[in-house]
Amino acid sequence: MTTNVDVKSFPLFINGEWKQAESGQTFDVTNPATGEVIATAAKGSKEDVDKAVKAAREAFENEEWREMKPKDRAVILNAIAQKITVHAEELVYLEVISSGGTVRRVSSNDILQMADLFQQMAKFVLDYPFSETLPVPPFPGPSHNFVWREPIGVCAAITPWNMPMLIASWKIAPALAMGNTVVIKPASYTPLSTLKLAEIISTVVPPGVINVVTGSGKEVGEYLTTHPEVDKVAFTGSTEVGKKIMSLASETIKNTTLELGGKSPSIFLEDADLEVAIPGSLFGVFLHSGQLCESGTRLFVPDSIYDKVVKGLVQWSKRLKLGNPLDATTEIGPVISKQQRDTILSYIESGKKEGATIACGGKEITVDGCEGGSFIEPTIFTNVTNDMKIAQEEIFGPVLSVIRYSDVNEAIKQANDTIYGLAAGVWTKDVNKAYDVTRKLKAGVVWINDWHMLRNDAPFGGYKQSGIGREMGKHSLDAYTQLKHVHTSMVPQLEKRNWYQILFSQSE
Ligand code: NAD
Repeated sequence: MTTNVDVKSFPLFINGEWKQAESGQTFDVTNPATGEVIATAAKGSKEDVDKAVKAAREAFENEEWREMKPKDRAVILNAIAQKITVHAEELVYLEVISSGGTVRRVSSNDILQMADLFQQMAKFVLDYPFSETLPVPPFPGPSHNFVWREPIGVCAAITPWNMPMLIASWKIAPALAMGNTVVIKPASYTPLSTLKLAEIISTVVPPGVINVVTGSGKEVGEYLTTHPEVDKVAFTGSTEVGKKIMSLASETIKNTTLELGGKSPSIFLEDADLEVAIPGSLFGVFLHSGQLCESGTRLFVPDSIYDKVVKGLVQWSKRLKLGNPLDATTEIGPVISKQQRDTILSYIESGKKEGATIACGGKEITVDGCEGGSFIEPTIFTNVTNDMKIAQEEIFGPVLSVIRYSDVNEAIKQANDTIYGLAAGVWTKDVNKAYDVTRKLKAGVVWINDWHMLRNDAPFGGYKQSGIGREMGKHSLDAYTQLKHVHTSMVPQLEKRNWYQILFSQSE
């Protein structure tokens, strides 16, 4: 892939304009495939957050934006979709060189999913029940009643580094669809594509509707989370930081959506179609070097097919081509950083120490032309028990734990035995068995004979410590509105009012 994008210096994006940080400081953005610095981004501080929130507040208070008719809003959302398509090459490039996601995935999935998301939101907004009329009630007396759904206000979107522009879109699209304004704080590894996306969106929305403040989670993230003029926090990231955000947001009782970590179980039943299930479950765990929240990192396999499955998993894993993510033939790119590499390698060591067996992979490798990057072989552990650290903690790397079982109910129990509940999967040819297992799995999404199939019209989010709330689908629009009950009395006479009887009728 070639492009002429200038990736040297990225200021903040506030009120429809590029602005340097108040401090004048910047931080480096590195290509994880090569270790080279590819850009600098402005290091935002509290002063910059104040400016962005002020711009977002003013834009929100402008009735033209907040009370725009759904059909006009749909036009804007469709225009954003179209602009994403027009700028696809640049967005894909910025995403790939900073996140390490392969150009194969980002150009054939993420960018299309983003454009489709804004189009879907345009459709949803046209049908959205902004005002619902309630029936005239017998109690507490005749009245006209409505439930109005109104935008929440200024929404802070705090996003992770693994799929930065897609995850930002999951927040921006419903927020704008409902008439809110947004201040985004992208992860410091990957601010570039989000900044570009904001610039693109700003061409079709009023100034201040979309803003981006880059900088540290500690300063920019925490300040947004506690800022009195921020009405909602939509966070995607680790469960650890999610807990902190929930606690900080509680100080001002902010509406909060949390999309957090996972340790998702994939269960093979004895009749699974192994031709599909083996590569399918590897797609579930090794896509993006395992750096996806809903990766299927624990694979439960019955005794009767265990050896055959392990053999197949190893064979298919060895086919995977690691390389520079900009190369269209690369199937697996680097991990995001040297720090993340060390974390993954230390989990691999812990698996070995706890008695699991490495069936393949387990090491860092060097990729020609990408000597400064961190690449880890797709790694499969067998002889894993569900209580091991590698089976309980989110590794966020290309590591699969295979767990043998003899009783499917025991496998389901272990599958649910984790603090997480983001995704799960079952592989079988029997649809009744599939639904039976699905009903018992505690997860926000269950894939049957598939993995990673997120849809823009279906809700996504976690059970248990994988989060609160849902993104995508019509349901995500609810998360960006608040309800207002509007009551009009139909009783003109004073003495017939219910409240008159309660308070005044004895004092005549
Ligand atoms: P992270 O939690 O370290 O950081 C996420 C974002 O929060 C970043 O922008 C970071 O700068 C910011 N942040 C950090 N500390 C903060 C604080 N104290 N206050 C406010 N903001 C703060 O996560 P990450 O390493 O960027 O991403 C990986 C994690 O994200 C994994 O746990 C993964 O499972 C999760 N994730 C979840 C989903 C989902 O939809 N459930 C999707 C993608 C990633």
